[in-house]
Amino acid sequence: MKISKIYIDASAEDDPLARQIPDRLGVPVDHIGDPAWLYKGVAKAPDPESAGKSVLLLTRNKGSFIRNCPGTSHYTCCGYRILHIGAYCSMDCAYCILQAYYHPPVLQFFTNQGQMYEELDGFFAEGHTGRIGTGEFTDSLIWERVFPIARYLVNYFSGQDTAILELKTKTAAVDSLPQTGHCKKTIMAWSLNTESVIREQERSTASLESRIAAAEKVQANGYPLAFHFDPMILYPGCHQDYAGVADRLFSRIDPSNIVWISLGSFRFMPELKEVAARRFPDSGIVYGEFIKALDGKMRYFKPLRIRLYRSLIERIREKAPGVLLYFCMEDQEVWEKALGYTPEAYGGLSRMLDMRAEKMCGLKRTGQ
Ligand code: SF4
Repeated sequence: MKISKIYIDASAEDDPLARQIPDRLGVPVDHIGDPAWLYKGVAKAPDPESAGKSVLLLTRNKGSFIRNCPGTSHYTCCGYRILHIGAYCSMDCAYCILQAYYHPPVLQFFTNQGQMYEELDGFFAEGHTGRIGTGEFTDSLIWERVFPIARYLVNYFSGQDTAILELKTKTAAVDSLPQTGHCKKTIMAWSLNTESVIREQERSTASLESRIAAAEKVQANGYPLAFHFDPMILYPGCHQDYAGVADRLFSRIDPSNIVWISLGSFRFMPELKEVAARRFPDSGIVYGEFIKALDGKMRYFKPLRIRLYRSLIERIREKAPGVLLYFCMEDQEVWEKALGYTPEAYGGLSRMLDMRAEKMCGLKRTGQ
């Protein structure tokens, strides 16, 4: 993360983090009353989505820190919760929806963390198995130089046993994480893709080798692990390449440490097409054979998705037969044809994942 300037809006002025973060980063600071002024300036840049990656807005989260994952209609959702610590990302993926989601996007980090911990206490007290992650509107590990929030959260989650935190990343930045004392209440998760997708579509992310090496490092410290093959992208030779990623993964990672692996194919809201085509002219990903699905997103034709999933699932099952596999946002037919069952056979996807987390991370349900 290369931040050239910090902006502090009026709402955050009195929060201790609005003083601590500028001290840590040592870059120029501007106090702005209304962030609209900043957004207007960034929007005028030749590439606003890139300009927004080098400015940091310190502001308050005006809504809830804990939110339900929006999921998508007509597809099986996993009942995940989002811990909304900040927004946008210093890395730059051609398919990233955040480019089109915010207008214009800028890095934002929320300074009212007292409210976040209060909400977490309420969440823990519910006593249900909770699965929550910070990697939905940002990457979970890019903020550590700004403020080591991942480290603090790992420690906070270690003090309870009803919920797990999933830190999802495309970095290899694991050095700030506690080596001990996490009590398995944090799952360290990596998004994985093929070498060619990483090289061509995921600018400034860690290489596949570095991601696997980082996973190996935290595995040695006893963290439970997860991996997300998402978004899987179709291109000539992709089936062999994805199987090759699985081979590399299991040559270094012990399947018995993996809580789950998810699979999802590239899908996008139509608004992304213009932004990705403008910012990634050498990328052809938005020009494949897509259909507009029931949720309004563009998806590969179903038979192509099923074939893509099947080849990777076959290889994963060969190497790691006991690992729980699931789809992020797929329909019943895809589950049935690619995995051979639907989540309903096991009480639903949410329950399947809860049970896995309970077993592997030692969670206890105390509520109904
Ligand atoms: S790493 Fe994730 S959040 Fe960051 S640019 Fe890529 S897709 Fe977006």
